Amino acid sequence: MAEPNTAAGASVPEVAPEDCELCEAARFTHWYHEDDVCWVADCEACDCPMVVWKQHGTAAPDVDVAHMMSQLTQAGCERFGEDGFAIDRVMRQIPWHFHAHARDRGWHQRRWSSQPSRYSGTVGGPRLLIETR
Ligand SMILES: [Zn+2]
Ligand SMILES: [Zn+2]
Repeated sequence: MAEPNTAAGASVPEVAPEDCELCEAARFTHWYHEDDVCWVADCEACDCPMVVWKQHGTAAPDVDVAHMMSQLTQAGCERFGEDGFAIDRVMRQIPWHFHAHARDRGWHQRRWSSQPSRYSGTVGGPRLLIETR
């Protein structure tokens, strides 16, 4: 991930790497939704629902942003209940690819203890958890 930037000394990569993990969109966790614009799945890093734009860049048009926020809100409601979460649009790890999280209040503690979900085989299918050993 953190390649030494020998070129010009920019601290944050503006250009996406070839192996961008959001483009790869591997289905390891529960997937809530997918369409031509975006997909929504549990984030592998923090176990919160995350919407990902299917294009590179962060300047998504308003209509796409509105669409993505409504899909993310729906996933958040499904998971945490209507008042149980807040939308977080800060792109900390992957600044070149638009995405946002629906975070419940306890996510910061929960991510160390909660059982991660796994892909059920169907987008929007049942939310299954990885069985503990
Ligand atoms: Zn990407
Ligand atoms: Zn995350």
